[in-house]
Amino acid sequence: MSLDILTDPNPELRTVSAPVAEERFGTPELKAFGAQMIEAMIDDNGIGLAAPQVGVHDRMIVVTMNNQPAVYVNPEIISRSAALFDFEEGCLSVPGVFGLVERHKKVKVRARTLEGLPVQLSLKQLNAVIFQHEIDHLDGVLFTDKVKRLTHSSTTIA
Ligand code: ZN
Repeated sequence: MSLDILTDPNPELRTVSAPVAEERFGTPELKAFGAQMIEAMIDDNGIGLAAPQVGVHDRMIVVTMNNQPAVYVNPEIISRSAALFDFEEGCLSVPGVFGLVERHKKVKVRARTLEGLPVQLSLKQLNAVIFQHEIDHLDGVLFTDKVKRLTHSSTTIA
C-alpha cells in the first residue's frame, strides 16, 4: 500500500500533530508507517516528508541526508543560529510552487528513532532547512506562509 500525499488547501495540512506516545516506540505499526513514509518520499522525489502530508497527525518526519533516508520521531528544534539566510524551497504538498524562505542557517534538533533511541543532530545549510520545513508541517505551517518571494525553479522538494 502506498501513501497519497495531500495537497494544499487540504485542511489536514493545517492540523497540529501530536507527539508519538511512549508505548508506540518499537511497535511493528510505527515501524511500518515509517517505512511507508520513506517509500512515499522516494516515490515522489522528495528529500523530506512529514506525517501530516499523508494525513497522519503524529509528530514524525522522514529526511534524506547524504543519500540516506531516515525517520525522526517527535523532532524538536532545541537551538537556532542567529544567522539567517534565504533558501529556495518547494513542497510536495504545494506542487509547482517555489520561493525564497528566510531560515536559520544552523539548527540543533533532538528527536527519537522508531525504536525510541534519542538522537541529536547539528545541522546546517540544506539539512537545517529541511528540518525547519518538515517541523513546520507538524505545526500546520506551510512554506508558502513564510515565503518572501516566489521563484520559478526548484532546488528543494520536501
Ligand atoms: Zn513540505
